[in-house]
Amino acid sequence: MLTLIFSFVLLITNTDSALNNNNNMKFELIKLPYAADALEPVISKQTIELHHGKHLQGYVNNLNNLIQETEFENADLETIVKKSNGTIFNNAGQVLNHNLYFTQFSPNGGGQPSGKLAAAIDAEWGSFENFKKEFENAGTGLFGAGWVWLAEDENGKLSIVKEANGGNPLTKGLKPVLGFDVWEHAYYLDYQNRRADHLKELWKIIDWEIVGNRY
Ligand code: MN
Repeated sequence: MLTLIFSFVLLITNTDSALNNNNNMKFELIKLPYAADALEPVISKQTIELHHGKHLQGYVNNLNNLIQETEFENADLETIVKKSNGTIFNNAGQVLNHNLYFTQFSPNGGGQPSGKLAAAIDAEWGSFENFKKEFENAGTGLFGAGWVWLAEDENGKLSIVKEANGGNPLTKGLKPVLGFDVWEHAYYLDYQNRRADHLKELWKIIDWEIVGNRY
């Protein structure tokens, strides 16, 4: 009887470790810090559910599959974004981009940045209003799919960076502070072709405390 139990435990243990080896899922879908409908009407529940639950989940799954048995198998996300190219870079970039994107929003967002970030924005663009206009113009003027970023260099100097596809300012040695996703999947259900209207609305849900802490 004891042998039987022991064998059974061994069987379970082996099955368990085999499963873990096959499902070495390194990166996981980030949890949203708000309910799917909490950002309405700026971003609808349906868009959040598709964008987070389907698009981002797809990038996470792709990345986990692609890095298996490569030099990036045990690397952290930022390292992969800095050093990879091709499909690994595209998916790693999109995972990092969306992690930054979804965590910068709050149903209680809006208003203005404060402290050091506000001062740095004023130093570069004269005013928060002027910065917003320049940022929106960059996003509207980006042809095709991509991202517009507020990024800082090693001296804290800010700039607006346009990136195609899954690009991130990290590859230019800059730190991403705020990012607007201008892929159509981010806004098409809610705004159709009106990207400019979508970008203008996004300011209402920016959590400037979180964005300020990144700077
Ligand atoms: Mn997206």
